[in-house]
Amino acid sequence: MVLYWKRCSICGRYEPIDACSMHPSVNVCPWCCILCSERSNCSKPTWFTEVKVIEAKEVEVKERIEREKRIRTLLEELMSKLE
Ligand SMILES: [Zn+2]
Repeated sequence: MVLYWKRCSICGRYEPIDACSMHPSVNVCPWCCILCSERSNCSKPTWFTEVKVIEAKEVEVKERIEREKRIRTLLEELMSKLE
């Protein structure tokens, strides 16, 4: 991947930019790409594609921990009632 240090089409700052995968005529900097409102619909964000994957994994792990916590709390409640 070749990085061009040019003006971002969106924020106008001089940043390393690359063509937006959704709008190839738009050159986007990493910050605008991350903050892009279309990012959730973007199958392949130009910048940090892997961020999406990490987020999805993190959510999955957090949900599992939450679920386990809830089950444990329930079990503890049950156990305390049995005692
Ligand atoms: Zn920008």
